[in-house]
Amino acid sequence: MISELKSNPLSYLSEQLETWKREGTYQRLRELQTACGPVCRVDGREVINLASNNYLGLADHPKLKEAATEAIRRYGVGSAAVRTIAGTMSLHLELERRIAEFKKTEACVVFQSGFAANAGTVAAILGPDDHIVSDELNHASIIDGCRLSKARIHIFPHKDVAAADRILSELDGEPGRKLLITDGVFSMDGDIAPLPQLVEVAERHGAIMMVDDAHASGVLGRAGRGTVDHFNLHGRVHIQVGTLSKAIAAIGGYVCGSRDLIEFLYHRARPFLFSTSHPPSVAATCLAALDLLEKEPERIERLWQNTEYFKGELRKAGFQTGASETPITPILIGDAALAFRFSNELFEEGVFATGVGYPTVPKGKARIRTIVTAVHTREHLDRALEILVRVAKRLGILA
Ligand SMILES: *Cc1c(COP(=O)(O)O)cnc(C)c1O
Repeated sequence: MISELKSNPLSYLSEQLETWKREGTYQRLRELQTACGPVCRVDGREVINLASNNYLGLADHPKLKEAATEAIRRYGVGSAAVRTIAGTMSLHLELERRIAEFKKTEACVVFQSGFAANAGTVAAILGPDDHIVSDELNHASIIDGCRLSKARIHIFPHKDVAAADRILSELDGEPGRKLLITDGVFSMDGDIAPLPQLVEVAERHGAIMMVDDAHASGVLGRAGRGTVDHFNLHGRVHIQVGTLSKAIAAIGGYVCGSRDLIEFLYHRARPFLFSTSHPPSVAATCLAALDLLEKEPERIERLWQNTEYFKGELRKAGFQTGASETPITPILIGDAALAFRFSNELFEEGVFATGVGYPTVPKGKARIRTIVTAVHTREHLDRALEILVRVAKRLGILA
Protein backbone atom coordinates (compact mmCIF):
# COMPACT_ATOMS: atom_id res chain seq x y z
CA MET A 1 0.00 0.00 0.00
CA ILE A 2 2.65 2.43 1.13
CA SER A 3 4.71 1.92 -2.01
CA GLU A 4 1.69 2.97 -4.06
CA LEU A 5 1.36 6.16 -2.11
CA LYS A 6 4.99 7.17 -1.86
CA SER A 7 7.86 6.76 -4.21
CA ASN A 8 10.35 4.10 -3.13
CA PRO A 9 13.80 5.63 -2.54
CA LEU A 10 15.33 2.16 -3.10
CA SER A 11 13.75 1.67 -6.53
CA TYR A 12 17.17 2.12 -8.18
CA LEU A 13 18.16 -1.24 -6.69
CA SER A 14 15.21 -2.96 -8.37
CA GLU A 15 16.14 -1.31 -11.66
CA GLN A 16 19.72 -2.57 -11.35
CA LEU A 17 18.47 -6.08 -10.64
CA GLU A 18 16.30 -5.94 -13.77
CA THR A 19 19.33 -4.89 -15.80
CA TRP A 20 21.37 -7.83 -14.49
CA LYS A 21 18.51 -10.18 -15.37
CA ARG A 22 18.41 -8.81 -18.93
CA GLU A 23 22.20 -9.13 -19.25
CA GLY A 24 22.23 -12.70 -17.95
CA THR A 25 24.48 -11.86 -15.00
CA TYR A 26 21.85 -12.10 -12.30
CA GLN A 27 22.70 -14.93 -9.94
CA ARG A 28 20.24 -16.79 -7.80
CA LEU A 29 21.72 -18.43 -4.70
CA ARG A 30 21.96 -22.17 -4.98
CA GLU A 31 20.85 -24.20 -2.01
CA LEU A 32 23.12 -26.91 -0.62
CA GLN A 33 20.90 -29.54 0.93
CA THR A 34 23.48 -32.00 2.25
CA ALA A 35 26.85 -31.64 3.94
CA CYS A 36 29.57 -30.32 1.66
CA GLY A 37 31.27 -33.28 -0.03
CA PRO A 38 32.67 -34.37 -3.40
CA VAL A 39 29.11 -35.22 -4.42
CA CYS A 40 26.23 -33.39 -2.79
CA ARG A 41 22.63 -32.38 -3.36
CA VAL A 42 22.08 -28.83 -4.52
CA ASP A 43 18.64 -27.44 -5.48
CA GLY A 44 17.30 -30.98 -5.39
CA ARG A 45 19.90 -32.34 -7.80
CA GLU A 46 22.82 -34.67 -7.11
CA VAL A 47 25.95 -32.99 -8.44
CA ILE A 48 29.71 -33.44 -8.48
CA ASN A 49 30.90 -30.52 -6.42
CA LEU A 50 33.72 -28.54 -8.04
CA ALA A 51 32.66 -25.32 -6.37
CA SER A 52 33.80 -25.61 -2.76
CA ASN A 53 37.03 -24.73 -0.95
CA ASN A 54 36.83 -28.00 0.96
CA TYR A 55 40.34 -28.91 -0.25
CA LEU A 56 41.01 -31.75 2.16
CA GLY A 57 37.46 -33.01 2.52
CA LEU A 58 37.31 -32.00 6.20
CA ALA A 59 33.95 -30.18 6.10
CA ASP A 60 32.08 -33.36 7.04
CA HIS A 61 34.86 -35.27 8.79
CA PRO A 62 33.75 -37.37 11.82
CA LYS A 63 36.74 -36.29 13.96
CA LEU A 64 35.98 -32.61 13.43
CA LYS A 65 32.28 -33.10 14.12
CA GLU A 66 33.10 -35.00 17.29
CA ALA A 67 35.47 -32.22 18.45
CA ALA A 68 32.81 -29.58 17.82
CA THR A 69 30.12 -31.57 19.63
CA GLU A 70 32.35 -32.23 22.63
CA ALA A 71 33.25 -28.52 22.85
CA ILE A 72 29.56 -27.58 22.81
CA ARG A 73 28.86 -30.03 25.64
CA ARG A 74 31.69 -28.69 27.80
CA TYR A 75 31.74 -24.99 26.95
CA GLY A 76 28.38 -24.12 25.40
CA VAL A 77 27.49 -22.66 22.04
CA GLY A 78 28.91 -19.15 22.26
CA SER A 79 31.47 -16.96 23.99
CA ALA A 80 28.98 -14.11 24.52
CA ALA A 81 31.62 -11.37 24.41
CA VAL A 82 34.36 -9.87 22.30
CA ARG A 83 37.86 -11.17 22.92
CA THR A 84 39.04 -8.08 24.85
CA ILE A 85 36.12 -8.09 27.28
CA ALA A 86 35.16 -11.59 28.38
CA GLY A 87 35.26 -13.58 25.16
CA THR A 88 38.71 -15.16 25.33
CA MET A 89 38.21 -18.83 26.17
CA SER A 90 40.93 -21.43 26.77
CA LEU A 91 40.21 -23.01 23.39
CA HIS A 92 40.83 -19.68 21.60
CA LEU A 93 44.26 -19.38 23.20
CA GLU A 94 45.08 -23.02 22.57
CA LEU A 95 44.20 -22.60 18.88
CA GLU A 96 46.39 -19.51 18.57
CA ARG A 97 49.36 -21.25 20.20
CA ARG A 98 48.82 -24.21 17.93
CA ILE A 99 48.65 -22.16 14.70
CA ALA A 100 51.76 -20.14 15.67
CA GLU A 101 53.63 -23.41 16.16
CA PHE A 102 52.29 -24.77 12.87
CA LYS A 103 53.38 -21.66 10.97
CA LYS A 104 56.67 -21.46 12.89
CA THR A 105 56.05 -17.90 14.06
CA GLU A 106 56.20 -16.33 17.53
CA ALA A 107 52.51 -15.65 17.84
CA CYS A 108 49.08 -15.76 16.21
CA VAL A 109 45.74 -14.02 16.57
CA VAL A 110 42.52 -15.55 15.28
CA PHE A 111 39.76 -13.39 13.75
CA GLN A 112 36.14 -14.24 12.95
CA SER A 113 37.02 -14.71 9.27
CA GLY A 114 39.87 -14.37 6.81
CA PHE A 115 38.15 -11.26 5.55
CA ALA A 116 38.23 -9.71 9.03
CA ALA A 117 41.88 -10.77 9.47
CA ASN A 118 43.03 -8.98 6.30
CA ALA A 119 40.87 -5.90 6.57
CA GLY A 120 41.40 -5.54 10.32
CA THR A 121 45.17 -5.95 10.15
CA VAL A 122 46.00 -3.64 7.26
CA ALA A 123 43.70 -0.94 8.64
CA ALA A 124 45.25 -1.26 12.12
CA ILE A 125 48.95 -1.07 11.26
CA LEU A 126 48.92 1.72 8.66
CA GLY A 127 47.61 5.28 8.49
CA PRO A 128 47.19 8.18 6.06
CA ASP A 129 50.93 8.93 5.88
CA ASP A 130 51.82 5.39 4.76
CA HIS A 131 52.06 3.55 1.44
CA ILE A 132 50.71 0.20 0.29
CA VAL A 133 52.10 -1.60 -2.75
CA SER A 134 49.53 -4.20 -3.77
CA ASP A 135 49.11 -6.80 -6.57
CA GLU A 136 46.18 -5.90 -8.85
CA LEU A 137 44.54 -9.29 -8.23
CA ASN A 138 44.72 -9.21 -4.43
CA HIS A 139 41.60 -10.32 -2.58
CA ALA A 140 38.76 -7.91 -1.84
CA SER A 141 39.45 -8.09 1.91
CA ILE A 142 42.98 -6.74 1.31
CA ILE A 143 41.58 -3.97 -0.86
CA ASP A 144 39.05 -3.02 1.82
CA GLY A 145 41.77 -3.05 4.50
CA CYS A 146 43.90 -0.77 2.33
CA ARG A 147 40.99 1.65 1.87
CA LEU A 148 40.15 1.63 5.57
CA SER A 149 43.75 2.43 6.49
CA LYS A 150 43.59 5.63 4.36
CA ALA A 151 47.16 4.94 3.29
CA ARG A 152 48.16 5.71 -0.32
CA ILE A 153 47.56 2.65 -2.48
CA HIS A 154 49.91 1.77 -5.36
CA ILE A 155 48.74 -1.13 -7.53
CA PHE A 156 51.27 -3.17 -9.51
CA PRO A 157 50.37 -5.40 -12.48
CA HIS A 158 49.73 -9.01 -11.52
CA LYS A 159 52.93 -10.72 -10.27
CA ASP A 160 55.09 -7.97 -11.80
CA VAL A 161 58.00 -7.91 -9.32
CA ALA A 162 59.94 -5.30 -11.32
CA ALA A 163 56.96 -2.94 -11.18
CA ALA A 164 56.66 -3.39 -7.41
CA ASP A 165 60.38 -2.68 -7.14
CA ARG A 166 60.01 0.49 -9.23
CA ILE A 167 57.16 1.79 -7.10
CA LEU A 168 59.11 1.17 -3.89
CA SER A 169 62.22 2.80 -5.40
CA GLU A 170 60.22 5.93 -6.11
CA LEU A 171 59.01 5.88 -2.51
CA ASP A 172 62.55 5.48 -1.10
CA GLY A 173 63.24 8.54 1.01
CA GLU A 174 59.54 9.43 1.22
CA PRO A 175 58.21 9.58 4.76
CA GLY A 176 55.74 6.95 5.94
CA ARG A 177 55.81 3.19 6.25
CA LYS A 178 55.61 0.90 3.25
CA LEU A 179 53.72 -2.36 3.01
CA LEU A 180 54.20 -4.84 0.15
CA ILE A 181 51.20 -7.15 0.05
CA THR A 182 50.17 -10.16 -2.05
CA ASP A 183 47.92 -13.17 -2.06
CA GLY A 184 49.97 -16.38 -1.72
CA VAL A 185 47.69 -18.24 -4.13
CA PHE A 186 45.34 -16.09 -6.22
CA SER A 187 41.78 -17.16 -5.61
CA MET A 188 40.32 -16.74 -9.10
CA ASP A 189 43.33 -17.82 -11.21
CA GLY A 190 45.03 -20.41 -9.02
CA ASP A 191 48.54 -19.13 -9.67
CA ILE A 192 51.20 -18.71 -6.98
CA ALA A 193 52.77 -15.36 -6.01
CA PRO A 194 56.49 -14.85 -6.78
CA LEU A 195 57.08 -14.63 -3.04
CA PRO A 196 60.90 -15.10 -2.93
CA GLN A 197 61.38 -12.20 -5.36
CA LEU A 198 58.82 -10.02 -3.57
CA VAL A 199 60.53 -10.70 -0.23
CA GLU A 200 63.85 -9.56 -1.71
CA VAL A 201 62.26 -6.37 -3.00
CA ALA A 202 60.64 -5.69 0.40
CA GLU A 203 63.96 -6.28 2.17
CA ARG A 204 65.82 -3.99 -0.20
CA HIS A 205 63.41 -1.13 0.50
CA GLY A 206 62.75 -1.79 4.17
CA ALA A 207 59.07 -2.53 3.49
CA ILE A 208 56.77 -4.67 5.59
CA MET A 209 56.04 -7.95 3.74
CA MET A 210 52.56 -9.42 4.10
CA VAL A 211 51.08 -12.50 2.41
CA ASP A 212 47.49 -13.75 2.39
CA ASP A 213 47.63 -17.53 2.31
CA ALA A 214 43.90 -18.23 2.37
CA HIS A 215 44.15 -20.69 -0.54
CA ALA A 216 47.66 -21.91 0.31
CA SER A 217 47.05 -23.01 3.88
CA GLY A 218 46.42 -26.75 3.96
CA VAL A 219 47.46 -26.92 0.31
CA LEU A 220 51.07 -25.75 -0.17
CA GLY A 221 54.16 -26.29 1.98
CA ARG A 222 54.94 -29.11 4.38
CA ALA A 223 51.67 -30.35 5.96
CA GLY A 224 49.98 -27.39 4.30
CA ARG A 225 51.93 -24.67 6.12
CA GLY A 226 51.53 -22.29 3.17
CA THR A 227 53.65 -20.37 0.70
CA VAL A 228 56.23 -19.18 3.24
CA ASP A 229 57.08 -22.80 3.98
CA HIS A 230 56.72 -23.81 0.31
CA PHE A 231 59.43 -21.28 -0.64
CA ASN A 232 61.36 -21.72 2.64
CA LEU A 233 61.06 -18.05 3.57
CA HIS A 234 60.63 -18.53 7.33
CA GLY A 235 61.52 -15.39 9.26
CA ARG A 236 61.40 -13.15 6.17
CA VAL A 237 57.65 -12.49 5.84
CA HIS A 238 56.48 -10.18 8.62
CA ILE A 239 52.76 -10.90 8.41
CA GLN A 240 51.12 -14.15 7.31
CA VAL A 241 47.36 -14.34 7.01
CA GLY A 242 45.49 -17.60 6.69
CA THR A 243 41.93 -18.79 6.77
CA LEU A 244 40.18 -21.46 8.81
CA SER A 245 37.26 -21.42 6.36
CA LYS A 246 38.76 -23.32 3.42
CA ALA A 247 41.08 -26.34 3.88
CA ILE A 248 40.46 -26.20 7.64
CA ALA A 249 36.74 -26.29 6.75
CA ALA A 250 35.25 -24.41 9.72
CA ILE A 251 35.27 -20.58 9.80
CA GLY A 252 37.80 -17.94 10.79
CA GLY A 253 41.02 -16.26 9.81
CA TYR A 254 44.33 -15.67 11.51
CA VAL A 255 47.42 -13.50 11.48
CA CYS A 256 50.84 -14.91 12.34
CA GLY A 257 53.97 -12.92 13.08
CA SER A 258 55.99 -11.47 15.92
CA ARG A 259 54.62 -11.35 19.45
CA ASP A 260 54.55 -7.54 19.28
CA LEU A 261 52.56 -7.51 16.03
CA ILE A 262 49.97 -9.79 17.60
CA GLU A 263 49.79 -7.77 20.84
CA PHE A 264 49.38 -4.59 18.79
CA LEU A 265 46.49 -6.20 16.90
CA TYR A 266 44.91 -7.21 20.24
CA HIS A 267 44.80 -3.47 20.98
CA ARG A 268 43.91 -1.97 17.60
CA ALA A 269 42.38 -4.45 15.12
CA ARG A 270 38.77 -3.39 15.02
CA PRO A 271 37.11 -6.76 14.23
CA PHE A 272 39.03 -8.21 17.20
CA LEU A 273 37.91 -5.38 19.48
CA PHE A 274 34.34 -4.91 18.31
CA SER A 275 32.99 -8.27 17.15
CA THR A 276 32.32 -11.37 19.23
CA SER A 277 34.82 -14.23 19.24
CA HIS A 278 34.16 -17.65 17.76
CA PRO A 279 31.97 -20.20 19.49
CA PRO A 280 34.25 -22.67 21.31
CA SER A 281 33.11 -25.42 18.90
CA VAL A 282 34.79 -23.55 16.03
CA ALA A 283 38.13 -23.41 17.85
CA ALA A 284 37.84 -27.10 18.73
CA THR A 285 37.02 -27.99 15.11
CA CYS A 286 40.10 -26.12 13.90
CA LEU A 287 42.34 -27.83 16.45
CA ALA A 288 41.07 -31.23 15.26
CA ALA A 289 41.70 -30.19 11.63
CA LEU A 290 45.29 -29.20 12.43
CA ASP A 291 45.77 -32.62 14.06
CA LEU A 292 44.64 -34.30 10.85
CA LEU A 293 46.89 -32.13 8.68
CA GLU A 294 49.90 -33.30 10.64
CA LYS A 295 48.83 -36.93 11.10
CA GLU A 296 47.52 -37.61 7.58
CA PRO A 297 49.85 -36.01 5.05
CA GLU A 298 48.38 -38.36 2.42
CA ARG A 299 45.33 -36.09 2.23
CA ILE A 300 47.45 -33.33 0.73
CA GLU A 301 49.14 -35.83 -1.59
CA ARG A 302 45.75 -36.96 -2.88
CA LEU A 303 44.71 -33.34 -3.36
CA TRP A 304 47.73 -32.76 -5.59
CA GLN A 305 47.31 -36.04 -7.50
CA ASN A 306 43.72 -35.06 -8.28
CA THR A 307 44.82 -31.55 -9.20
CA GLU A 308 47.43 -32.73 -11.68
CA TYR A 309 45.10 -35.26 -13.25
CA PHE A 310 42.12 -32.93 -13.60
CA LYS A 311 44.07 -29.91 -14.81
CA GLY A 312 45.98 -32.06 -17.31
CA GLU A 313 42.77 -33.52 -18.73
CA LEU A 314 41.12 -30.09 -19.00
CA ARG A 315 44.11 -28.77 -20.96
CA LYS A 316 44.20 -31.85 -23.20
CA ALA A 317 40.53 -31.27 -23.98
CA GLY A 318 41.41 -27.76 -25.15
CA PHE A 319 40.09 -25.65 -22.27
CA GLN A 320 41.83 -22.36 -21.48
CA THR A 321 42.95 -22.73 -17.87
CA GLY A 322 45.20 -19.68 -17.65
CA ALA A 323 48.22 -19.72 -15.39
CA SER A 324 46.74 -22.04 -12.77
CA GLU A 325 49.23 -24.15 -10.81
CA THR A 326 47.14 -25.18 -7.78
CA PRO A 327 43.84 -27.04 -7.18
CA ILE A 328 42.00 -23.88 -8.33
CA THR A 329 41.56 -24.26 -12.08
CA PRO A 330 39.55 -21.61 -13.90
CA ILE A 331 38.04 -22.32 -17.30
CA LEU A 332 38.31 -18.96 -19.02
CA ILE A 333 35.30 -17.90 -21.07
CA GLY A 334 35.46 -14.08 -21.34
CA ASP A 335 31.81 -13.15 -21.76
CA ALA A 336 29.96 -13.18 -18.43
CA ALA A 337 26.58 -14.24 -19.82
CA LEU A 338 28.19 -17.23 -21.58
CA ALA A 339 30.12 -18.20 -18.44
CA PHE A 340 26.93 -18.17 -16.37
CA ARG A 341 25.08 -20.13 -19.06
CA PHE A 342 27.92 -22.69 -19.14
CA SER A 343 27.73 -23.01 -15.36
CA ASN A 344 23.94 -23.41 -15.43
CA GLU A 345 23.97 -26.07 -18.15
CA LEU A 346 26.75 -27.96 -16.38
CA PHE A 347 24.61 -27.94 -13.29
CA GLU A 348 21.65 -29.42 -15.18
CA GLU A 349 23.96 -32.24 -16.31
CA GLY A 350 25.31 -32.87 -12.79
CA VAL A 351 28.44 -30.73 -12.38
CA PHE A 352 28.51 -27.87 -9.90
CA ALA A 353 31.09 -25.26 -10.95
CA THR A 354 30.30 -21.61 -10.32
CA GLY A 355 30.37 -18.89 -12.94
CA VAL A 356 32.45 -15.91 -11.85
CA GLY A 357 32.08 -12.45 -13.37
CA TYR A 358 32.55 -8.80 -12.47
CA PRO A 359 33.23 -7.56 -9.78
CA THR A 360 34.92 -10.77 -8.58
CA VAL A 361 37.09 -10.78 -11.73
CA PRO A 362 37.66 -7.92 -14.21
CA LYS A 363 35.03 -7.26 -16.94
CA GLY A 364 35.60 -9.45 -20.00
CA LYS A 365 37.45 -12.09 -17.95
CA ALA A 366 34.50 -14.15 -16.81
CA ARG A 367 35.11 -17.82 -16.19
CA ILE A 368 33.86 -20.83 -14.38
CA ARG A 369 36.05 -21.85 -11.49
CA THR A 370 36.73 -25.46 -10.58
CA ILE A 371 38.36 -26.72 -7.40
CA VAL A 372 39.14 -30.40 -6.93
CA THR A 373 39.53 -31.83 -3.45
CA ALA A 374 41.37 -34.74 -1.85
CA VAL A 375 38.11 -36.68 -1.60
CA HIS A 376 37.08 -36.68 -5.25
CA THR A 377 37.57 -40.14 -6.73
CA ARG A 378 38.93 -40.75 -10.21
CA GLU A 379 35.36 -41.73 -11.22
CA HIS A 380 34.00 -38.38 -10.02
CA LEU A 381 36.65 -36.52 -11.99
CA ASP A 382 36.17 -38.56 -15.17
CA ARG A 383 32.41 -38.08 -15.07
CA ALA A 384 32.87 -34.34 -14.51
CA LEU A 385 35.33 -34.13 -17.42
CA GLU A 386 32.99 -35.95 -19.77
CA ILE A 387 30.15 -33.54 -18.90
CA LEU A 388 32.39 -30.45 -19.13
CA VAL A 389 33.52 -31.38 -22.64
CA ARG A 390 30.03 -32.32 -23.84
CA VAL A 391 28.42 -29.07 -22.60
CA ALA A 392 31.33 -26.91 -23.81
CA LYS A 393 30.98 -28.34 -27.31
CA ARG A 394 27.25 -27.72 -27.28
CA LEU A 395 27.84 -24.05 -26.36
CA GLY A 396 30.68 -23.58 -28.83
CA ILE A 397 33.25 -23.06 -26.06
CA LEU A 398 35.20 -26.03 -27.41
CA ALA A 399 35.41 -26.70 -31.13
C1 LIG B 1 38.53 -16.64 0.90
C2 LIG B 1 39.59 -15.63 0.99
C3 LIG B 1 39.67 -14.76 2.07
C4 LIG B 1 38.58 -14.67 3.10
O1 LIG B 1 38.58 -15.76 3.95
P1 LIG B 1 37.25 -16.09 4.79
O2 LIG B 1 37.78 -16.87 5.93
O3 LIG B 1 36.34 -16.83 3.90
O4 LIG B 1 36.69 -14.77 5.22
C5 LIG B 1 40.76 -13.91 2.14
N1 LIG B 1 41.72 -13.91 1.19
C6 LIG B 1 41.66 -14.73 0.14
C7 LIG B 1 42.76 -14.70 -0.88
C8 LIG B 1 40.59 -15.61 -0.01
O5 LIG B 1 40.53 -16.39 -1.07
